[in-house]
Amino acid sequence: MSAAATSNAQEQANDGVMPQVVRELVRALGRERVLSTPEELIAFEYDGTIERGKPQAVVFPESTEQVSAAVRIAHRFDVPVIPRGAGTGLSGGAVATIGGVVIALTRMKRVLEIDVANRLAVVEPGVVNLDLSKAAAPHGLYYAPDPSSQRACTIGGNVAENAGGPHCLAYGATTNHVLGAEIVLADGEVAWLGGTTRDVAGYDLIGAFVGSEGTLAIATKIVVRLMKLPESTRTLLAIFDTVDDASNSVSAIIAAGILPSALEMMDRNIIAAVEPVIHAGYPLDAEAVLLIEVDSLEEGTVEQAEAIEKLCSANNAREVRLAVAQPDRERLWAGRKTSISALGRLYPNYYVLDGVVPRTKLVEVLRKTYAIAERYGLAVANVFHAGDGNLHPNLLFDERDPGATARVLDAGAEIMRVCVDAGGSITGEHGVGLEKRDFIAWIFGPDDLAAMAKLKPAFNAGERYNPCKAFPTHKGCGEVRQAHIQRTAGAIGTDIYV
Ligand SMILES: Cc1cc2nc3c(=O)[nH]c(=O)nc-3n(C[C@H](O)[C@H](O)[C@H](O)COP(=O)(O)OP(=O)(O)OC[C@H]3O[C@@H](n4cnc5c(N)ncnc54)[C@H](O)[C@@H]3O)c2cc1C
Repeated sequence: MSAAATSNAQEQANDGVMPQVVRELVRALGRERVLSTPEELIAFEYDGTIERGKPQAVVFPESTEQVSAAVRIAHRFDVPVIPRGAGTGLSGGAVATIGGVVIALTRMKRVLEIDVANRLAVVEPGVVNLDLSKAAAPHGLYYAPDPSSQRACTIGGNVAENAGGPHCLAYGATTNHVLGAEIVLADGEVAWLGGTTRDVAGYDLIGAFVGSEGTLAIATKIVVRLMKLPESTRTLLAIFDTVDDASNSVSAIIAAGILPSALEMMDRNIIAAVEPVIHAGYPLDAEAVLLIEVDSLEEGTVEQAEAIEKLCSANNAREVRLAVAQPDRERLWAGRKTSISALGRLYPNYYVLDGVVPRTKLVEVLRKTYAIAERYGLAVANVFHAGDGNLHPNLLFDERDPGATARVLDAGAEIMRVCVDAGGSITGEHGVGLEKRDFIAWIFGPDDLAAMAKLKPAFNAGERYNPCKAFPTHKGCGEVRQAHIQRTAGAIGTDIYV
């Protein structure tokens, strides 16, 4: 069967039952919580990637019971279920690849409890990441994982992707901060994983659930750890004339036994996008800057900042600036946190990659990344969690140029291959999703994949629960994706994606 025919077959199978599914969803949740006309659904075909997929309905439950009711209806009619937070995902996880019912959790946005004595919070999945830290701040507490999208992304989406962020270098990614979750299984049953303490008896099922990319269950309540706001924070901006010197400084800092709370790199193209609008103070003629933060007791941050300044200078930093006052530190961070969205100033489209390499390979891998982009005639802008060796090359392009998307996809695949060959991985924090599903066999053998696939039946999740994501399982998914790539890439796509 051709790709287009398979795609149609999948959509028709859903379409046949959809009027009835929508009627039941409206009856169970109310008309105001269900979207189903083509115009209403357009905004839900996308997430933060170039992937596309049309759902046939989107529901906005406001309670666990409503999530469970919607899932039960989809289950009864054998229609795919796709959980969705804010849709900022960068691997296509919330895209309805073969159609189905999108369950958008954004109206479940209450911070249910802040337990100061136990330093934890219980939240609904649609709470926006930054709002949780704002709610905890009056108690001298905050939520540590801070994706650069933290003004928009939800805690539910963070849990599903095991999201990272600049401050995860010292404090760990989402999985280190989630203690428990209430979940809705594929048949609508409600269950709890983990609890409110760090240690629970039995298998670490909450550990398995965090990072499962919406393929196992939907989180409807989440218990997270909160941390004490630090006594003192110092932020440094180290300015370099070469990317190599900046990369070598990263290794030097960690090798000296210093673990900053954040250690981020931005290159010339990122600076060009950000500086004219944000005025963060990044020099436009630098090849790279490092944004380094230390936090602890006052004496500790003074000592660490001095040591970091010396190490950067020894690695040819042109200048190292220190910001201590909050407004100065916030200005430096504003540039970093808006860097990806600022790329729109340079090109209409960007494609964000998410590779991981051993820190000591940064120089070699970055050189290869720039060379690959140049060979494909593409601009590339790098902004990334350098301390974690978590690269984010952004390939810049205009999808209206014939063949541009195909070149971007091919260049992206080559860069991911370089990361894997350097002993790294295909994702540091954005997840495998749809986008890198076909690369997963580069790092896991068939036995590993088969063992991991057994988690889905263990959660009773079935093929219809966020199908086509993370693992190359569901039959029609490869063909549907290939059809999309051929449409967007002007039919020049490569066979690497099937
Ligand atoms: C400008 C920008 C910067 C970014 N920076 C970072 C960064 O620094 N670090 C980082 O890790 N990521 C980053 N991201 C990626 C993205 O923001 C994260 O992956 C985030 O966790 C996605 O959250 P979301 O609410 O938007 O989820 P969505 O995109 O809506 O969904 C993501 C996945 O989660 C699943 N899901 C959503 N809610 C639930 C739920 N309640 N239960 C089960 N599954 C669910 C979906 O099915 C999907 O698979 C960035 C994105 C952008 C656009």
